[in-house]
Amino acid sequence: NVKSSGRNDYCLFRAEMLEIVHTQQSAERELREAIAERQFELHYQPVVDIKTRELTGVECLVRWRHPTKGMIPPDHFIPLAESTGLIVPLGEWILLQACADAANWPEHVKVAVNISAIQFKKGNLFEIILATLVKTGLQPERLELEITETSLLENQDAHLTTIRQLKNLGLSIALDDFGTGFSSINYLTIFPFDKIKIDKSFTRGILSRADCKAVVASSLALAKGLGIITTVEGIETEDQLDYMRAAGVELAQGYLFGKPVPVSEFGRANAPMLTELVA
Ligand code: C2E
Ligand code: MG
Ligand code: MG
Ligand code: MG
Repeated sequence: NVKSSGRNDYCLFRAEMLEIVHTQQSAERELREAIAERQFELHYQPVVDIKTRELTGVECLVRWRHPTKGMIPPDHFIPLAESTGLIVPLGEWILLQACADAANWPEHVKVAVNISAIQFKKGNLFEIILATLVKTGLQPERLELEITETSLLENQDAHLTTIRQLKNLGLSIALDDFGTGFSSINYLTIFPFDKIKIDKSFTRGILSRADCKAVVASSLALAKGLGIITTVEGIETEDQLDYMRAAGVELAQGYLFGKPVPVSEFGRANAPMLTELVA
């Protein structure tokens, strides 16, 4: 009858909910332990001048070297790190390690670090970054922060203050995944970005799709009008590169130049662009 089936449904629902909660809790515990045990490693991907192909910097991309599950990509644990607040200690470690690594490289090579919305909301990002630069001796001009539009949705005044402080210190700020979020144009006029990064989804379609071409052309017009430089992500072929260069993009990043690799692989066969970073 209806009543008992309703009750069974409720029990089933409750059991499923408990299972979800338990899975979530054990995932959180595992992530917490991974941070304590430093199971993360930083990989770096070259960013090049689109005309000369010279190395201008690298982007830092975190991976979780899980003791049994192998290498886990950031998309699979950053969301949990964000929802649990663990991105704050993890993000501090990433900044410290990336700046310490970059301090060993030639001075013209910049390092870009992705910063989560949660790190912004915490309110002490400026202090953390200042302390990190002091500790590692990295010049502020060599550090770039990559942020997404969603990071800036709330508390715009507070974020603007932080961004201004960081820029006064000498850092540069890039707007990541440009074109994938909301009200991009508005954000470009509110926040003093140094750079926009055109998302790789537009690169993927750039040779065949009119909508991708339109987004890239208008993004570039906007960036140039505002005096902002542009990096394009996800360049995998010479044809994509040729298109983006002709369109007026300044910097390029993608598998054509190199996949993200750990410092131990710099200069090896899969990372020839990073030879100059090896001491
Ligand atoms: P993102 O910052 O937009 O990074 C670019 C992503 O594109 C990276 O994925 C990179 O490996 C990938 N990629 C680069 N070149 C190519 C290419 O030619 N083709 C293709 N198909 N992909 C390419 P990854 O390393 O898996 O990172 C994914 C996202 O995770 C990043 O997107 C970023 O939002 C986030 N993330 C990575 N590291 C960190 C971090 O240290 N902190 C935070 N908060 N987020 C991070
Ligand atoms: Mg990025
Ligand atoms: Mg991106
Ligand atoms: Mg992305």
